[in-house]
Amino acid sequence: AYWPASGHIEVEKLSARYSEDGPKVLREVSFQVAAGERVGIVGRTGSGKSTLTLALLRCILTEGNVRYDGLPTEKINLDALRSSITIIPQVPELLSGTLRQNLDPFSEHDDAVLNDALRSAGLFNLQDERDQSRITLDTQIAGGGANLSVGQRQILALARAIVRRSKLLILDEDYETDAIIQASLRTELGKDVTLLTVAHRLQTIMDADKIMVLDAGQIVSAIMSMIR
Ligand code: ATP
Ligand code: MG
Repeated sequence: AYWPASGHIEVEKLSARYSEDGPKVLREVSFQVAAGERVGIVGRTGSGKSTLTLALLRCILTEGNVRYDGLPTEKINLDALRSSITIIPQVPELLSGTLRQNLDPFSEHDDAVLNDALRSAGLFNLQDERDQSRITLDTQIAGGGANLSVGQRQILALARAIVRRSKLLILDEDYETDAIIQASLRTELGKDVTLLTVAHRLQTIMDADKIMVLDAGQIVSAIMSMIR
């Protein structure tokens, strides 16, 4: 079964810090996201946007409550949590090995499924199919993903989310590829997915149902359905 089934998020007084004696970088943030909703997160550099994405998966030290489909994160095995919710970081780290191994570490899917995911994620919009050096499932990924651009890595991370059928995607957008990724998410793929996007472009924000503005680790304003 794919969990969480719907992708409803409740966040209550969530604070986060990077070390035991470090400052609270995220300070008592509370919000809710309905299943299937698209949320844009904006704010100046250093305001805590990436920190929020990490705190939602408890990748850093947190206080406060986060519930997915009503289930508190303390009750969820962290590996299960991180394998069901996909976070696409600003600079994704890939594993060394082939692209196939990165997309499907336990060899559960055949190549057609993996290629479909790459196509849906928008990889082939970036490269000419006749290009000899184009990325395929057999492409060797250097440690961390050093031989790929940050944008390509984000697209591969999105393809991984597609393969895993994540209901909940947290995306820390990169300037280079955000247009491609947003276009991918506007298709079939984005249906029934709850999507939190750290957004840089006006177009991304305009696609959102709700916009959260962060400043100095707090939500300073939440704007609902501004456009529609
Ligand atoms: P940007 O738009 O530049 O990506 P951001 O809103 O994502 O900025 P964060 O990365 O969340 O900002 O940073 C928020 C605060 O946390 C900043 O003061 C930053 O210095 C601090 N911070 C970020 N990462 C770390 C880390 N690994 N260790 C310690 N402090 C960190
Ligand atoms: Mg950031």
